[in-house]
Amino acid sequence: MKMSAQNPEAIVYNGLLAIGSAMQPVSQALAVDCGKILALGSDADMLSLAGPDTKMIDLNGRLVVPGFIDSHIHFYEWSLKRQNLKLDDLTNLEELLDRVREDAHTKPPQEWIMGQGWNETDWTDPRMPTREMLDLAAPDHPVLLWRCDLHLAAANSAALRLADINAKTPDPPDGRIERDPAGKPTGILRELAINLVRQAVKPPDPSQVKDAFEDGIKALHRIGITGIHDIRLMADTDGASALRTFQILDQSDRLELRCWVSLSGHELDKIIALGLRTGFGNDRLRIGHVKFFADGGMGARTAWLIDPYLDAERGMPMMDMEFLAQEIEKADNAGLSVMVHAVGDRANQELINIYEKLKSGRDASGAPLPSLPHRIEHVQMIQPQDADRLRDLGVALCVTPANMVLDMNLIDTALGPSGKWTYSFRRLVDSGSPVIFSSDCPVCDPNPLLGIHAAVTRQRIDGTPDSGWWPESCVTVAEALKAYTLTPAKTHNALDIGTIAVGNRADLAVLSHDIFKMPTMQIAQSRVDMTLFDGEVVHRNF
Ligand SMILES: [Zn+2]
Repeated sequence: MKMSAQNPEAIVYNGLLAIGSAMQPVSQALAVDCGKILALGSDADMLSLAGPDTKMIDLNGRLVVPGFIDSHIHFYEWSLKRQNLKLDDLTNLEELLDRVREDAHTKPPQEWIMGQGWNETDWTDPRMPTREMLDLAAPDHPVLLWRCDLHLAAANSAALRLADINAKTPDPPDGRIERDPAGKPTGILRELAINLVRQAVKPPDPSQVKDAFEDGIKALHRIGITGIHDIRLMADTDGASALRTFQILDQSDRLELRCWVSLSGHELDKIIALGLRTGFGNDRLRIGHVKFFADGGMGARTAWLIDPYLDAERGMPMMDMEFLAQEIEKADNAGLSVMVHAVGDRANQELINIYEKLKSGRDASGAPLPSLPHRIEHVQMIQPQDADRLRDLGVALCVTPANMVLDMNLIDTALGPSGKWTYSFRRLVDSGSPVIFSSDCPVCDPNPLLGIHAAVTRQRIDGTPDSGWWPESCVTVAEALKAYTLTPAKTHNALDIGTIAVGNRADLAVLSHDIFKMPTMQIAQSRVDMTLFDGEVVHRNF
């Protein structure tokens, strides 16, 4: 290992750097060596360090920020879904069938062809694909294609056969198998009938998962993401596969991403029995939090509210609050931090009650237990008096600004004026609690610049609504940037990432524009032009 001031591996100059915790851009340059930021200073000072082997990177005035950390991403689901056919850009049914035909040519027979995103209402002739059409395009492969809204899917005969769906199959509860006049399934499945086929899909084999992960990591580099908090829901299927694949990549030195992997609350006793604690791992792969659910979501009106919805009752808890309190205490005592999904204002209030009563202990060495703060996921609706209670709680708040943009209409309909208590980023930041940003991808696009845009403008990327949705809840660009970098690093005890400082890991994103100076409405149009992970250039497009 060489770490001398002379002849560093790379010098990044002629740009703006969002240095330290203030993150206000200054004209500086930096030198990178052995994965770390070796030195910071003027262009002249840094260029004087250059040796014959130094890679020189001229930024042409671009802005460098710390690499982004997405604090709530379903990486397994997203990276595997990326391997499916993308059908959102079609103009007619024939194109859809062509895509299926091409995929059938490249895949061994019997392997599943899956895709999503088709929308027949955009087509000149708005006909949906049928079982027979898909059979002709792919006679030897099971096919399942989700419509863009995910409430409907088209399957071919092979897929229906594997799912045991025939003329005699009854419709499942909350689902419909469409049939022709003779009673034979047409291949169109609505709502939960889709699950009958989905359950028949063979889980991906380890090499498919590994390929999908490597491809997904590259895609994250292209949007400046160098760290994730991966959220797992099922320990028995995707959980094991995801954690195993992260380890395989890490052990072969190919995990170019810092990952905190969460574990399912259903498995708490097993996790404790194994002796796992939050923080176990290395600087690329660590055990994160144990995930629980306090309530559901606004769309299904299952988020648990204090007052009724305009068009429904009050929603409901997903588990008994006393039981949840016991599970949290058990985890806490075992050195495991928890993250609890809480969307409605009642769910958040109850969860704060639990956290307030929790008395964390110390481990055998005298260190506080657990090693990382507990979290609340989503914090979508919270009453001001409850937000005030967050002040001294030391709990990290993970929110998803890009989801607000998708939810504006939904919340106007469900809550009307009480919508002002939702996505209260300003109030949460002002509570002094660590606020961390995420995409909840694949719910939202994982591009952090879209999240920053949403948090700063509270507008869609087309500029609607005019002056922002509940604009008093906007945050500044610096606050949004910290919620994607410094704050998640600090709350996860990763003190050598999240800021640009000498000695820190060189995980960096170079942006096409100065997002501090440009009109906020244009932030969503800026790009990530270069990403460094551990001092290596992992993405560059200039
Ligand atoms: Zn999620």
